[in-house]
Amino acid sequence: MAKIEANKQLKQYLKEYFQGFFPPAGPRPKVAWCTSVGPAELLISLGFQVYYPENHGALLGATRAAEKYIPVANAGGYSPEICSYLTSDIGAFQQHETPLKEAYGIPSVPPPDVLIYNTNQCREVQDWFAYYARSFKVPSLGVFSPWKIDQLNREQIGYVSHQIEAMIPELERISGRTFDLDRLKEVIALSRRTSDLWLEFLQTARQRPSPITFFDGCIQMAPAVVLRGTVAAVDYYELLNREMKGHLARREGAVEKEVVRLYWEGMPVWGKLRFFSDLLARFGANAVASTYCDSWIFTDFDPADPFVSMAEAYTKIFINRSERVKETILAEKAAEYEIDGIIYHDAKTCPYNSNSRFGLPQRVTAKTGIPHLIFDGDVNDLRCFSEEQTTTSLESFVDQIKENH
Ligand code: SF4
Repeated sequence: MAKIEANKQLKQYLKEYFQGFFPPAGPRPKVAWCTSVGPAELLISLGFQVYYPENHGALLGATRAAEKYIPVANAGGYSPEICSYLTSDIGAFQQHETPLKEAYGIPSVPPPDVLIYNTNQCREVQDWFAYYARSFKVPSLGVFSPWKIDQLNREQIGYVSHQIEAMIPELERISGRTFDLDRLKEVIALSRRTSDLWLEFLQTARQRPSPITFFDGCIQMAPAVVLRGTVAAVDYYELLNREMKGHLARREGAVEKEVVRLYWEGMPVWGKLRFFSDLLARFGANAVASTYCDSWIFTDFDPADPFVSMAEAYTKIFINRSERVKETILAEKAAEYEIDGIIYHDAKTCPYNSNSRFGLPQRVTAKTGIPHLIFDGDVNDLRCFSEEQTTTSLESFVDQIKENH
């Protein structure tokens, strides 16, 4: 079975990234917190070290610490029904705790100088960052994106790109640096290269058997999220893809006997990655592709046109598209990865990235003939998830596919 050796280097890259917020000597860098699909390139170009609270939320989920912190935020008035990244992150902050201490030896989450969000993904990010703006007494600036778009038009792109550009004077004031267009172009070029390499990694799953699983993708995506726009991300994915060439040449599958190829739609269940990966492998199934991992592919980035291409790339993300566009993308992905079945995760605290509530699975099945399964769960709140129920329904779903093979 394919085992990814680059994981050791991944840990080192992430350690350097997190420790970079607290240099042993010299002045502390200016820190910007940013939503995962916010305009990070602009922040990097102005010399900010960029920290992503959603990545911290995912870490709280993956380490199962979320279970301890969600009730803390709930007690402070943050509903159990809103984003569990948000509630676990705010709960941990209120307890002055973070798994980053143990993992990377840093004393706390890095205190921000500014908070930057983009509403392209959901409404929660504005209130999530407003909490920290009050706590740290720093500004929180937002990009307000048009929602659920079908075809993106020039007015919409202009609306977003002008908002990103309009942040520059305030960011210059906070960073103490002057905006440099050439530096922004360099950063965009690095993000684009990262995106291309990330896509190359994900596309290794087109081979049968696939050398990777969706769960590998959830781990390997970290540099695309937190290091995009830097040389480190490019270096890491070049190294990873060199290794993947070997796995492909030896035709090593990530799952011992890949009989059924699945598509994972929606968010991961962070506290259950191992559970799902073992379960699917036991059934001879592999989740080879997903919209979640694809969310960090930004083929629109163009260094020659930085603001417009950033606006395009960040507004066109899957989560922000009309159901009609989502239907088309899912059908195309299913054909590209030779998918036998689609599983939809209905994440109870993330309605924005749960695409099973308005008939989409049924329409995609009617269009493609590919069967689907919807299961209940959540990104971080494991009270919404049942191992028993999910095991039973996944097993019969995979059995049905095998019978029809
Ligand atoms: S998209 Fe979902 S998981 Fe992500 S921040 Fe918004 S509500 Fe939370």
